[in-house]
Amino acid sequence: MDRTGFKAALVAAAEAVVASKDVLTRADQAIGDGDHGIGMARGFRAFADALAKLDDAGASACLQAGGKALMMTGGGASGAIFGTFYTASGNALEAEAEPDPTALAAAFAAGLQAVKDRGRAKAGDKTMIDAAEPAIAALAQQQGALPAALEAMAAAARSGMEATRDMVATTGKARALGERSLGHPDPGAMTFTIFCEALARGLR
Ligand code: ADP
Ligand code: MG
Repeated sequence: MDRTGFKAALVAAAEAVVASKDVLTRADQAIGDGDHGIGMARGFRAFADALAKLDDAGASACLQAGGKALMMTGGGASGAIFGTFYTASGNALEAEAEPDPTALAAAFAAGLQAVKDRGRAKAGDKTMIDAAEPAIAALAQQQGALPAALEAMAAAARSGMEATRDMVATTGKARALGERSLGHPDPGAMTFTIFCEALARGLR
């Protein structure tokens, strides 16, 4: 897999989140304050634009630049959370390494740890962690080619996201709703899933 292929797939994944703005808005209207779609559309637009400015950048530099742009523009809890995820993932990836499933899983695991350190949420709190954690675990199990490995990651993200319907939010804005957050998926988990699915599609 060449570097341009991974960068282009990251751009496509960011664009997919931008295109999902309305779906994410409705998800956050159901259990939050309704700003998730706007923030993520703005943040991932900046993510994609930052990558377009890099030429011949490896996965590490792409994730760092995208994460930084997202952090600066996304706003809300999710701007900081997703910005931290990609930046820390990029930092953990060896500068010139071609991403393979094992290296990428280790990098994303470092990104997720940084999210937990920063936001103090854990699995089961009905956040993006509930999509990211099973997704990264699934990626870590993969030994074949990256596209197939990312398909497995995306499938695990989606089932993790679906499982957030049965969780009561204990963190963020949805916390105020308590039991009324039941039945609705977590918006950030949706964003993470949309990103993973488009990343896998982009490498196929
Ligand atoms: P805000 O909560 O500031 O309105 P958004 O609506 O943009 O921000 O994002 C909400 C999403 O951010 C949630 O659905 C959840 O997935 C994620 N989130 C919020 N707080 C945390 C946290 N501490 N750790 C991980 N993810 C979080
Ligand atoms: Mg919100």
